[in-house]
Amino acid sequence: MANIQWYPGHMNKAKNQIIDILELVDVVIEVVDARIPLSSRNPLIEKLAQKKQHLIVLNKADLADPVETKRWVTYFSNLGHEFVIALDAKHNSQIEQLVTLIKQATAAKTKKIMAKGALSPTIRAVCVGIPNCGKSTILNRLVGKNVAVVGDRPGVTKNQNWLKAKGNIQVLDTPGILWPKFDDQEVGYKLAACGAIKDSIFHADDVAIYLLDFLKTNYTRQLREFTRVTDLDAQSTPELLLQLTKQFGYRDDYDRFALILLQRFRKLKLGRISLDWVAHND
Ligand code: GDP
Repeated sequence: MANIQWYPGHMNKAKNQIIDILELVDVVIEVVDARIPLSSRNPLIEKLAQKKQHLIVLNKADLADPVETKRWVTYFSNLGHEFVIALDAKHNSQIEQLVTLIKQATAAKTKKIMAKGALSPTIRAVCVGIPNCGKSTILNRLVGKNVAVVGDRPGVTKNQNWLKAKGNIQVLDTPGILWPKFDDQEVGYKLAACGAIKDSIFHADDVAIYLLDFLKTNYTRQLREFTRVTDLDAQSTPELLLQLTKQFGYRDDYDRFALILLQRFRKLKLGRISLDWVAHND
């Protein structure tokens, strides 16, 4: 796996920015990719968001294996997270449920403020997560079409604003960016397969081989249907990739086909697949 663009300097800057942002909000909406809820999570957020209401959104649920997503919701609940939701922000489903969840998470605080005479206190939220998990999409869904910048509230920098969302919610217009955590190569492969890191910084064939191996074991039927290869174990996985390169009309262009395979995986051509499995992480 090639080296990634997150150098310690960047990490520190991002971390400090998140700390600053969190100072300003009531609710942290942590966004992860539902296909890889652990691999797309930066565990630091648990620590940073400790004193805040903390929601976990398993986004891109439309791409993930629904059975696994259900297990992940339970997994996070068992860890003590009260507010967990699976979402398909791209197609706008369940966004109302997310709004309801935000309100539930802040109900106690709202009640307290209302007891002091405020009519409808504002709830302030921010989306945080690694690149490409769907933070901006969720933000746009929360805000809706009529983007209204809310004045005279502190942002973090001059270029940040609070946007009026549904309910009495205001969302910071700039999501908090966390860096992906590559503790092991497998996590890197999963992030790459799901498009969380740029295609230009990893070798597509390594990731494609990882993906084929994973699918051979865990999604055999889907892989058979996609490849039309019945005996997937008749040859090694690199040999299989080579065979598929030819079969799909890419001659000897192994690297090109590897990337095509990843793109097809991301576009659901192999079906709804999760690369992090709860059972594997128990
Ligand atoms: P950010 O970098 O975290 O702000 O991610 P974006 O909001 O820019 O989304 C990255 C890509 O994922 C875009 O192409 C979105 O259209 C896509 N995307 C976001 N949410 C979803 C989702 O729930 N389902 C699907 N299929 N795609 C999504």
